[in-house]
Amino acid sequence: MLNIKDIIKEIEDWAPPGIAWKQDNVGLQIGDPNEDVTGVLIALEVTPEVIRESLQKKCNLIITHHPLIFKPIQSLTPNSLSGDLALTIARNNLHLYAAHTNLDFTRDGVNFVLGKKLNLNEMEFLYQESGGLKKISVFVPHDYVEKVTNAMTKAGAGIIGDYEACSFQIRGTGTFRPLEGAQPFSGEVGKLQYENEVRVEMVAPVWKTTAVVAAMIDAHPYDEVAYDIYPNEAIDPMYGAGVLGSLPDPMPVDGFISHVKKSVGIPVVRRTSGASTTIKRVAVCGGSGSDLIRTAVHKKADAFITADVKYNAFHEARNVIHLIDAGHYETEIFIVEAIANRLKTKFKDQETKFYPTKISTNPIMYS
Ligand SMILES: [Zn+2]
Repeated sequence: MLNIKDIIKEIEDWAPPGIAWKQDNVGLQIGDPNEDVTGVLIALEVTPEVIRESLQKKCNLIITHHPLIFKPIQSLTPNSLSGDLALTIARNNLHLYAAHTNLDFTRDGVNFVLGKKLNLNEMEFLYQESGGLKKISVFVPHDYVEKVTNAMTKAGAGIIGDYEACSFQIRGTGTFRPLEGAQPFSGEVGKLQYENEVRVEMVAPVWKTTAVVAAMIDAHPYDEVAYDIYPNEAIDPMYGAGVLGSLPDPMPVDGFISHVKKSVGIPVVRRTSGASTTIKRVAVCGGSGSDLIRTAVHKKADAFITADVKYNAFHEARNVIHLIDAGHYETEIFIVEAIANRLKTKFKDQETKFYPTKISTNPIMYS
């Protein structure tokens, strides 16, 4: 039987918590990671109806995109909506896990799923930031290069886009004089030793650096391992914000608006008109993505689809880019099915059932 930890590992391999927005609160919010999973219900957020559905379906794990516990929670009492929901979850021995901005910022996450729904091709991240990587270099005696490199790879180093186990290795000579008390791998106390060594370099995401260095030291035969960690300003191709893609053929603006409404299932959108008369390049950011409007303009997108757009942002976008607010729920809901499908595929040999919720948790109505 799967336990909560197995499911968490699969989600976090895809959407590592380390890439989440710093102010976010992601991960296991309520429950015990060591307990067995009876079934998994996936929803955009927790509501009383979602809890009821999970109990009916005998699912003791609820996975949501929006965290229930976000701001520091004052008390676990029925006096607030989040306190009441958290209390109900705990009382029913349910577990709650949230993958929020980490699922926004990863490949095949919220924005890629939305782009796919809109039939976009050649999707890439709309915005990527440097500073998420470190370069680790270590000096390894020749015969241990494979062991050390494998250990670093296993701990998460050496992933560049669609390639893993990426390293650079260069031979050289290391010198050291063991002092009294040293337990040298080779050489004698008091004598300068020349050793055939290989300098192995690998990149690693910042949040994995500690684990990679620990694995590296563990696999290394020296009692004192010589290594460097450098800041790396290269962009990690695995992570970024928003998505930019192209429609198979240009669409007239009216046709495109209908296409958006139909694709995300919203009866009406709020929008302003941009500069272009047809739409080909489209930027998207599910949920509140107004921070990316300028980037979408800069990247020459004809239209930008997001949600929670403020009045002033429409003013700034008018005659510049077709800015479309297609609803927070509507631009994010497709991730629920994507999570379910991913877990179903990964754990297809297991009895555990994964259900995307059947309930609309959208609190907004259109009249
Ligand atoms: Zn959201």
